[in-house]
Amino acid sequence: MASVELRGLTKRFGELAVVDDVSLRIDHGQLVCLLGPSGCGKTTTLRLIAGFLEPTEGEIRVGDRLVSSKARTLPPEQRNMSMIFQSYALWPHMTVAENIIYGLKLRKMARDAIARKLNEILTTTKLEPLAQRYPGELSGGQQQRVALARALIVEPETLLLDEPLSNLDANLREEMRFEIRRLHDEYRYTTVYVTHDQSEAMTTADLIAVMNAGVIDQLGTPEDIYDRPQSEFVARFIGASNVIKGSALDGNHVSFAGATLQVTGATLNTGQGAAVAIRQHDIQLSTMAPQLAQNVVKATVTRQVFLGANRDYMVEAADGTTLRIVTKTDDPVPRGSEVWLTLPPARCRALAR
Ligand code: ADP
Ligand code: MG
Repeated sequence: MASVELRGLTKRFGELAVVDDVSLRIDHGQLVCLLGPSGCGKTTTLRLIAGFLEPTEGEIRVGDRLVSSKARTLPPEQRNMSMIFQSYALWPHMTVAENIIYGLKLRKMARDAIARKLNEILTTTKLEPLAQRYPGELSGGQQQRVALARALIVEPETLLLDEPLSNLDANLREEMRFEIRRLHDEYRYTTVYVTHDQSEAMTTADLIAVMNAGVIDQLGTPEDIYDRPQSEFVARFIGASNVIKGSALDGNHVSFAGATLQVTGATLNTGQGAAVAIRQHDIQLSTMAPQLAQNVVKATVTRQVFLGANRDYMVEAADGTTLRIVTKTDDPVPRGSEVWLTLPPARCRALAR
């Protein structure tokens, strides 16, 4: 096992840089998620790491080995990596057991060693009862587990997963997230996990690299990314934040829609534009003016939806900004009502970018 390091990695198709000067270090045994919307360059990055693509610029190192550069790219089979694709790509004419040991047979491993490893992996992936079935006789989740077992049994230095759960239905997807993390804790292969689903990234990752248009917008632990977004893109993409635009009165005060907001996060430049993120459930909505007028914005309700445990409001501030607010279910505040919004200073995060 070893670390994986991307240095200034760039892939252009024609004029377009699909992966644009990406640098990222994944420590030995770590699971890093590349998280971003469709088309942001996740799969291309993974294919570069696997060796299916050659970089236009930059390099990839595994441990102290240079595996990709402009000058020389090691073919996939010499990288000691296992990749799991969106489609599981199991052999339909082989049983579960035969599918799993296929890679070991290719490597001409001794029979008794293969049998021992197979038993071990069947146990950890809970596939023992299914070992003699064919892929066509399995559910989607079971097939996914076979694909995982097949990737793990060869003891790769690096495990690459490209949206491995996207073909499963919602319940199973949730269960398999925990399963993948459990297997990772057991085997500790250095892992790059690609997904567009933020809950999937939050559940599985040690570190999340949020990608946008070919670049890593922010790298951090799930807590960092969620609690301390640095850009508007991350604030909106992760965990449903409103982003309001005002102007900085000083390092931590923003003028917005006729109100003054004290904020936390990045230090602002006086007189310049400021973007502030605040989550939908962190805003308090009231039909009466609060006693304490600090961080209070006046607004009008434009929509109200009952969601069972919560109510989902859309409101408009004096400057035309729309904010979404999720509150506990109380008496509904009808459309057209004038309301006062309290935005707690500790929840207003000024964005660095
Ligand atoms: P993601 O996996 O994040 O959805 P991809 O890495 O698959 O994104 O693709 C990123 C962008 O690169 C997309 O706009 C896609 O159309 C483009 N792209 C991917 N492969 C090629 C290719 N072989 N030739 C030209 N454009 C490509
Ligand atoms: Mg993709």
